[in-house]
Amino acid sequence: MSQNEQQEKYGLFVSSAGKSVDFWYLNASMMRSLQEEREEIIAQGLWRKVTPYGNKGTCTSAQDQREMRNFAANDYLGLASHPAIAEAFVEGIRTYGHGATASRLICGTSPAHVALEDSIAELKASDRALLFSTGFAAAMGTIPALLQRGDFVILDKLSHACLIDAARLSGATLRVFPHSDCINLEKILHALRAQHGSEPRIMIVTESVFSMDGDLAPLEELVRLKEKYDALLLVDEAHGFGIFGEHGAGLAEQIGLQKRIDLQMGTLSKAAGLAGGFIASSSVVIDLLINRARSFIYSTAPPPALAHAACQALTIIRSEEGKKLRQQLQNNIAQFTLGTMHDKHCTPIIPWILGSNEQALSASATLNKAGFLVPAIRYPTVPRNTARLRISLSARHTQEEIAELKLLLADM
Ligand SMILES: *Cc1c(COP(=O)(O)O)cnc(C)c1O
Repeated sequence: MSQNEQQEKYGLFVSSAGKSVDFWYLNASMMRSLQEEREEIIAQGLWRKVTPYGNKGTCTSAQDQREMRNFAANDYLGLASHPAIAEAFVEGIRTYGHGATASRLICGTSPAHVALEDSIAELKASDRALLFSTGFAAAMGTIPALLQRGDFVILDKLSHACLIDAARLSGATLRVFPHSDCINLEKILHALRAQHGSEPRIMIVTESVFSMDGDLAPLEELVRLKEKYDALLLVDEAHGFGIFGEHGAGLAEQIGLQKRIDLQMGTLSKAAGLAGGFIASSSVVIDLLINRARSFIYSTAPPPALAHAACQALTIIRSEEGKKLRQQLQNNIAQFTLGTMHDKHCTPIIPWILGSNEQALSASATLNKAGFLVPAIRYPTVPRNTARLRISLSARHTQEEIAELKLLLADM
């Protein structure tokens, strides 16, 4: 657009030097109001803000440096403060440096990245693995890399935001099946194949342990359906990794399905206590991702030192020590759920559903006063009218603090 045209269309003043653009016109703006949008969020009880924690770690209050009991973190095994992982982080900085300096494809692949990917692939019983900066980036890179317009992606209704956004970005037609409802899923698969034939790629997307309800996906049935209808299956093990399976690889390992899942997604930010997402898959898929996944190609590699620390975290997760931590976590889950409506629950995520936003916020505030950090989770993270406390258990919680929290919750 020429300067004259621009001036006419937007009423912008372009200086004679053709440089500065003066937004005098903004005073008369009819643009949707930012202010009003903020007011609207507040009015709905959906206002969120970030609260910094104190300088003594993730569970001290910033105001008074009070030590809080943390039932909010996804630090299921307590590895976020493990001395051997901290030590490895420091060693990684000394050995490989802290910044990767470029995308993996340019000059960002260090021996630490390669070692970590080999270790993930082995743990996941897959050909290869690919590391991303975050789990979110792994989803955003992977689904659009493998699907396009004309393909189909079928998501569990409670799938994480990154899976939904990635599915939308891919251009494939989006379908949603009711949470863990395989009968409904089969109807969709059947109809799609009947209508569109065998050519379009179909990808089924689910979590293994659902992040806000802590329940398990029916993986065996999902695998049966994906094989029957020749679809790809992506399982996000963000909350299963480290917690389930003989070696802590996740729910798929526990039920012996790793080799039959096309894409095993995970994150190093939860049970592994660090940061970084990954996909474990066949060699051909990993090659395609290296060539097509935009969040991999156009983003600087995670710090090599972080990858080195993650190798240490993986070593712990698969070791005897990891097994003991998993057992301790299960003991804590059993203690917490005994005698509640969550009896027999087997994951560390406990949804304490209260209904309204106000109830959830006030319960969270009451617990906070008593020294417990338990977040209120509201729409759009969970469906409307199912606002809740999300209690995250960890192997490092003591029997005393679990008992105390139970007592407080009994009144809510
Ligand atoms: C946290 C989470 C992610 C994102 O992982 P990050 O590494 O934190 O970006 C993806 N999927 C699920 C189910 C999650 O809970």
